[in-house]
Amino acid sequence: MTTLAERLTQAHTRIDNAAKAANRAPDEIMLLAVSKTKPAGMIAEAYAAGCRNFGENYLQEALDKVAELTDKNDIVWHFIGPLQSNKTRPAAETFAWVHTVDRLKIAQRLNDQRPPAMAALNVCLQVNISNEPSKSGVSVAELPQLADAVSKMPNLRLRGLMAIPAESDDPLEQRSAFAALRHALTELQQQHPQMDTLSMGMSGDMDAAILEGSTMVRIGTAIFGTRT
Ligand SMILES: *Cc1c(COP(=O)(O)O)cnc(C)c1O
Repeated sequence: MTTLAERLTQAHTRIDNAAKAANRAPDEIMLLAVSKTKPAGMIAEAYAAGCRNFGENYLQEALDKVAELTDKNDIVWHFIGPLQSNKTRPAAETFAWVHTVDRLKIAQRLNDQRPPAMAALNVCLQVNISNEPSKSGVSVAELPQLADAVSKMPNLRLRGLMAIPAESDDPLEQRSAFAALRHALTELQQQHPQMDTLSMGMSGDMDAAILEGSTMVRIGTAIFGTRT
């Protein structure tokens, strides 16, 4: 049995090794600990081991955990799940980042509902990079229009792109999807040089994502164990 702290160390070692293989500085890559379905106690454990960035997928579950952990006021909360338009207000009031903005309506509501006292909400646009019919995410073709609109919203800060590619065990296939997201970001950076984030890579494909330029890996299982 490994402890959570040991698994966290292993995840950081994996990031360091992948960064070295890519000739990149390990500190360019942030570890986002994905704590969905796991209790607040495990977040506190990861916090004690040095984690500060946590990702949640389900809004009500996230709000409950945020409330339980208010004493740890330097936690940076990221929303990484699908966001329905009737749930944007609590999201705008709670999170530092939303990774899953994929349409104008959601962006507009988050912008309107962000409390003025809070810093602008960091936003990644979710891209349907593998063109899967049933998946959420904006298409690469529609991406420039959405990025232009979001970049003009004063209470949002357009930071980058996020994708969940079609699952594959083949590292080359994994890399080609991540490379496509990197190319999409490079294109957008001509108009939007402030975009500095590639949110890509999970427990099963973080190495490929780092080789292709990920700046934020979203790691759940490898830190908190399998979800039931
Ligand atoms: C669950 C989830 C993760 C973490 O996945 P693991 O395979 O457990 O590391 C990352 N990103 C998103 C959007 C998720 O929903």
